[in-house]
Amino acid sequence: MPFENIVGQDIAIKSLKSIITEHRVTGSYVFMGSDGVGKRTTAIALAKAVNCAAGDSKLACDCISCRKIDSGNHPDVFVILPEEKKGSIKIGKIREIIYEASLKPYEGKKRVFIINDAEAMTEEAQNALLKLLEEPPENHILLLTSSNLAGLLPTVLSRCKALKFYNLSQEVIWSLLKSRGAEDKEAVLFSHMAMGSVGRAMAFKENDIAAKRDRLVSNFFFRKSALLREDLLTEDMTDDKEEGLNLLLSWYRDLLISRFTREDKELFNIDRSVEISSYSQRFSQEKLERDIVTIVNTIGYIKRNVNPKIALFDMAVELKRS
Ligand SMILES: [Zn+2]
Repeated sequence: MPFENIVGQDIAIKSLKSIITEHRVTGSYVFMGSDGVGKRTTAIALAKAVNCAAGDSKLACDCISCRKIDSGNHPDVFVILPEEKKGSIKIGKIREIIYEASLKPYEGKKRVFIINDAEAMTEEAQNALLKLLEEPPENHILLLTSSNLAGLLPTVLSRCKALKFYNLSQEVIWSLLKSRGAEDKEAVLFSHMAMGSVGRAMAFKENDIAAKRDRLVSNFFFRKSALLREDLLTEDMTDDKEEGLNLLLSWYRDLLISRFTREDKELFNIDRSVEISSYSQRFSQEKLERDIVTIVNTIGYIKRNVNPKIALFDMAVELKRS
């Protein structure tokens, strides 16, 4: 059963299993929740379950239909994504879906359209989709996944049945990381840093994020002077500045948490809890809160395409202000 691999989403899975067994999977759905908690995996599992050749006795299996869906080769299952990372889903793509939705299932029982990061649809694209969302033809279902409902028009949301996906617990992420070959130390650190998302935890593991964080913390936190060499300022910030700033933010956030609680469990940067605990006592609550606001504001500037060098330099100066 494909749902067996999805952990930590018992409520969503239970309701999906019940509508599948009762043959009530119809219309449009939106799976909402943070990135990396299982929404896309569940959408694929649902597409498999409603098309499974093994019939009603099993919810899904290893039949030819399930295998085709897994490999992305099923002619009745469509997975739509933004064209590039943080890109948009344009009206042309939606018109293709509308055309495909006018056709009968080719070899499956149901045509399934999965629109991932649905909030990436332009307003024009969302409006174009309304009619289809309202009433997909018989044997057609639409599955939207979204981590940011604010990016979806109310008219889109009101046409979908919503299913909530929750952030995963540290314990669940820890065991998922272990089952995917992480060392004990990695599993502990990344399950703390993941903020409930196994996708984020895996990305941290793959990108050697601890080393990147260490460099950022030593450049922006431990460095005595605010006068940073330009290469230091841009190093580690070249590819994804937002991610770098979020790592730095997690450090300051931990310092603040550590002022109030001795519970290491609450820390993201658990591997450096001794330093965090010792440094947290050297700064006032006001200073740490101000630093956090400074970093959050810098993330905002970067998002709005302010010259990153200037934004980062200003931040470095601000962080050194006592
Ligand atoms: Zn099957």
